Amino acid sequence: MSAAHIIGLVASGQATSRAELARLLGWAPSTVSAHVQELLDAGLLLESGEGRSRGGRRPRLLSVPAGEGVMLAADLGGHHARLAALDGTGRPQKIRDQEMDVSAGPEAVLDQIMDALEELGDGRPVLGVGIGLPGPVDLDGVMVGPSRMPGWHGYSVRERMSRRFQAPLVVENDANLMAMGETVARGPDLRDFVFVKAGTGVGAAVVSDGRLHRGARGFAGDITHNRVPAGGDRPCSCGNFGCLETIASGAALVAAVNGDGVDVKSTADLVRLARDRHPTVTTNVRFAGRQLGEVLTTIVNFLNPQAVVLSGALAGCDLFVAAARGVLYERCLPPTTQDLEIAESVAGPDAGLLGIGRLILDQGVALASS
Ligand SMILES: [Zn+2]
Repeated sequence: MSAAHIIGLVASGQATSRAELARLLGWAPSTVSAHVQELLDAGLLLESGEGRSRGGRRPRLLSVPAGEGVMLAADLGGHHARLAALDGTGRPQKIRDQEMDVSAGPEAVLDQIMDALEELGDGRPVLGVGIGLPGPVDLDGVMVGPSRMPGWHGYSVRERMSRRFQAPLVVENDANLMAMGETVARGPDLRDFVFVKAGTGVGAAVVSDGRLHRGARGFAGDITHNRVPAGGDRPCSCGNFGCLETIASGAALVAAVNGDGVDVKSTADLVRLARDRHPTVTTNVRFAGRQLGEVLTTIVNFLNPQAVVLSGALAGCDLFVAAARGVLYERCLPPTTQDLEIAESVAGPDAGLLGIGRLILDQGVALASS
């Protein structure tokens, strides 16, 4: 384990010398030197140039050799997975999109995904492995009550992965990963924000002071099962009635628009018609955006974030975003919205993969300093 921590600290730029490693790991300098020497001998670390001296001998700079260690990442949707080999700093090197069906159950799906990841890794040393899942995941990497994922409830994804990979593991809900990916894409200035993934479903995540806020069991950030007054007695996938999901998710919007006699098959179809200002679609999309805005108002007042970042198919729909924004500005306390940025995500389709890279690096640091 210590090898991965050392590589993670060096790869992320948090440590460039033995002295910095000793400080971050809390180890004796002789112990750090012994481990570093093993990694240098194995070719997993490189020593080059000379760092800045703080009096005394100048330290040699440590780095991760380009093309050596690899992180493996998989971002799963309902019917599709995006897989990648990331370099030691968490940047995608090789990306592969793959069809799959989560309803095939966890074992079949995970075996298929892990085989594909191993292939992408190409036999290189594995620095960490991460997987993003389209449903609630607890802190132990167990899925809890995911909708439209038969067979996954109570299944330990982390345990299954640990049988194959002896490396730091990340098992996380997809919105959480996308939020962390946004911190990579936007850089260190974005530290406090609410991330909303508005696609077929509605997911959200909270990043506080640059770190993911997971909550006591890992389920923080759920907004989709907030009851909204306009939801009335519409049945929700969670078994309750009137949740935000029954109005503001892509799936609910498609159903509503179909009910009004307009033929749309997917959220993408819907967004296209909204861009063309189809009157029925426009009315429904605006209404949905306002309901999302209502729920976000409470969260923005409570958390005072620097930004609300919107992602997913509906985030590309100006009517939806404008409606949510309008309610936020109207209903939030003025000091809260004065500098509030409401923006579309810039991380793009690799957001989840970037988030996995970031969390693998963070995990190396957290484990090392515990
Ligand atoms: Zn619900």
